Amino acid sequence: MKQNVWNPIETAPVAELQALQTARLIHTVHHVYENVPCYRARMDAAGVGPGDIRTLEDLSRLPFTYKQDLRDTYPYGMFAVPMEEVVELHASSGTTGKQIVVGYTRGDLEVWGDTTARALVAAGGTPGSKIHVSYGYGLFTGGLGLDHGAKTLGAVAIPVSAGNTQRQIQILRDFGSDILCCTPSYATYIGETLAEMGVDPSELKLSAGIFGAEPWTEDARHKIEGLLGIKAYDIYGLTEIIGPGVAYECSCQQGMHICEDHFIPEIIDPDTGETLPLGQAGELVFTCITKEAFPLIRYRTRDIATLSREACPCGRTLIKMSKPRGRTDDMLIIRGVNVFPSQIESVLFQTGQTSPHYLLVVDRVGNVDTLEILVEMSPDFEFDAVRLVEQKQREIAESVQSTLGISAKISLVSPKTIQRSEGKATRVIDKRRLYE
Ligand code: ADP
Ligand code: ZN
Repeated sequence: MKQNVWNPIETAPVAELQALQTARLIHTVHHVYENVPCYRARMDAAGVGPGDIRTLEDLSRLPFTYKQDLRDTYPYGMFAVPMEEVVELHASSGTTGKQIVVGYTRGDLEVWGDTTARALVAAGGTPGSKIHVSYGYGLFTGGLGLDHGAKTLGAVAIPVSAGNTQRQIQILRDFGSDILCCTPSYATYIGETLAEMGVDPSELKLSAGIFGAEPWTEDARHKIEGLLGIKAYDIYGLTEIIGPGVAYECSCQQGMHICEDHFIPEIIDPDTGETLPLGQAGELVFTCITKEAFPLIRYRTRDIATLSREACPCGRTLIKMSKPRGRTDDMLIIRGVNVFPSQIESVLFQTGQTSPHYLLVVDRVGNVDTLEILVEMSPDFEFDAVRLVEQKQREIAESVQSTLGISAKISLVSPKTIQRSEGKATRVIDKRRLYE
């Protein structure tokens, strides 16, 4: 199942790739030491100089960088080049607190375009393909990230941005869009709206979608593929590293290839900081080795995933990461049990007559954590039959209990009562935070 690739490095022998990584790492460490006071201070404090980094193994001698460092140096303290060389700014969407600002040189935009072009090609894109970008344009990296990739590939960018879902569908149909790019929750929303408008997916030319920026399950993938009549691909990234395109899925759909020639991944134990062997789950850490304006060293993403270097049938040799389960910040601790919203999503998908929309409400009553799961039912569910409702609630509560080991109150809600998202979905309301 050899696939087209955008950049020959995607299929290069691992030894060649690692030689390239080593040279680039050495260069970047000098670059940050000389140009970013925070890095110079950190490295001096750790007793490591740029000359000490000669091999990939030496990477683990360098100190970590945390999101807090980027907040402390807000807005431009981590920039490694003068502003005259910066041509674009972006900011994180601020899902988990104060926003951070990142910058790109012209060279950085080329890297970004190259990485997202790889994702487009892996999803079947070619020069001339029409790339319908429904990620938000603006400071969020989703929109412009895929836009740069489309143009790099020589494809046609359709910069629709997020929102106005009926118009999205009109454009999908009239313009003959080939690949849809947005968050998986927005893809679901677009798919549902398509059905409501009575448009059959076969009326669209769409063949694939590239969906990321938030965690989504395999069940969500099947749902979206059915609603839109396409193959749905995952894409991963974060503003701090470059935006979407840090890793992308090939047609094998078993993990995402990391653009290792630009970003070196590591998996560490989030508690001890120790590097973990391939295959073990832990926190993803990235080191940028080609970025000029905003090169982060050993950046703690707080995303939990595994890495694998098993040969991929697509022919790419780039290491693969698993779908991240969610970030440690999203992990709920309910009565001492660790739960990711995506685990609850998997349980809900296995229950018939539910829709992919849900909301977790966590609270503390007395000294005890409580979890209520609001589950939106599909239109064919009979709310008038009280026994059915009770039975369904019990069924879901039992699955949650047996799969995740926590008890939850299940509240079934009518179709379309949980707010739809045009960007990243809000899955959790944690009222406990109000008391902290
Ligand atoms: P913010 O931090 O404000 O949400 P970003 O857009 O930079 O802004 O978010 C990046 C984060 O989004 C990642 O660290 C990860 O937690 C999540 N994310 C991005 N892509 C995916 C994906 N394909 N699967 C799961 N989570 C993802
Ligand atoms: Zn592959």
